Amino acid sequence: MKKIEVLIVGQGLAGTLLAFELHLAGVSVRIVNNPKKSTATRVAAGMVNPLVFKRMTKSWMVDELLPVMKKRYRVLEELLRERFYFDLPMIKPLSEQETALWQERKTDERFAPFINEICESSPVDHVFKSNAYGIVKGSGYLKTGLFLDAAKRYFQQKELLIEADFSVQEDDFENRVFQNIQFNKIVFCEGHYLKTHPLFDFIRLQPAKGEVLQIYAPDLSEEYIINRRVFVLPIGDHRFKVGSTYEWKDLTDIPTEEGKNSIVDRLKDLIHVDFSIEQHWAGVRPTVIDRRPVLGKNPQHEHVFVFNGLGTKGVMLAPYFAKQMLWTLMKGNHILPKEVNLQRFYKS
Ligand SMILES: Cc1cc2nc3c(=O)[nH]c(=O)nc-3n(C[C@H](O)[C@H](O)[C@H](O)COP(=O)(O)OP(=O)(O)OC[C@H]3O[C@@H](n4cnc5c(N)ncnc54)[C@H](O)[C@@H]3O)c2cc1C
Repeated sequence: MKKIEVLIVGQGLAGTLLAFELHLAGVSVRIVNNPKKSTATRVAAGMVNPLVFKRMTKSWMVDELLPVMKKRYRVLEELLRERFYFDLPMIKPLSEQETALWQERKTDERFAPFINEICESSPVDHVFKSNAYGIVKGSGYLKTGLFLDAAKRYFQQKELLIEADFSVQEDDFENRVFQNIQFNKIVFCEGHYLKTHPLFDFIRLQPAKGEVLQIYAPDLSEEYIINRRVFVLPIGDHRFKVGSTYEWKDLTDIPTEEGKNSIVDRLKDLIHVDFSIEQHWAGVRPTVIDRRPVLGKNPQHEHVFVFNGLGTKGVMLAPYFAKQMLWTLMKGNHILPKEVNLQRFYKS
């Protein structure tokens, strides 16, 4: 029987980044992934926005997360010989009230890495007239599908990936055996399927379905992401990802007419340009009630761990918290920040 240190369940952003952390640290690892189950990472637009426009604050922990994220994707781009992370500035059309707030923030040095300038006219054509246009720096996007595929090929080459479904109901779970592999620890990175996980049902997951379109718009500039109530993200060849929606009742990954219409209505409020819809996807975000990731060890099972709750910002969160997860698994005394520790869901 083959002996390994860590078995990971799920090859979305969480499982993939954790697998690389362990593998690059020289820890023996295997990943089990069921390709028939839905994967939010494949549907995600992959956008990174360092600002929260609603309140015009910085995104949670952005100063710590962004440097780790950029470094991690660069290292993986070299390892996998593929480019999948791209820096791209963002245009935010501003109302009069928003312009005043942006001008105030621009004088605040904490925002200096993220606000480039505030322009009177849009730097690109076909954006509806607004009072002003804020230009964000530090934004960008991950080609999530390309990244997962490149990672999958690497894991397959190294014989680290098993395509199968994992169930804790199997007899061998207690013996820490799966398909003739003896594992020491197991980490569940199952995305929104965590909601029905028998060992983690105390975590307050509130999955949110989202829909995204791919449009073809040959006359629209590809130099910026445009973002107001809907984002328009250039992905090359005059194609753009446009989204998204939030739905908490229907948690299928089936695209809906209602979702499409909602995105198109908001798009037509933002830009005036000819476009055709080429693709339409839906997926389910693994969002936690307090909008923070969830990491840690199961209270009843010493060898069972979870890494989940990447919510709406998986691209930015996953690299930093995969490192926290590595330390949790491999250094007995690592203390996880309270905000992300699964202990916050223990009943007192
Ligand atoms: C419409 C939409 C738009 C989004 N846009 C963005 C964006 O612009 N930027 C951003 O940062 N984030 C975005 N997100 C969020 C992002 O997708 C998630 O934060 C992230 O992908 C979650 O990764 P994950 O690994 O936790 O889950 P997933 O990607 O869902 O992966 C879970 C994996 O586990 C596998 N699995 C589950 N159970 C089992 C089992 N029992 N056995 C074997 N395998 C199993 C599944 O097959 C799946 O592959 C978006 C999400 C959606 C739905």
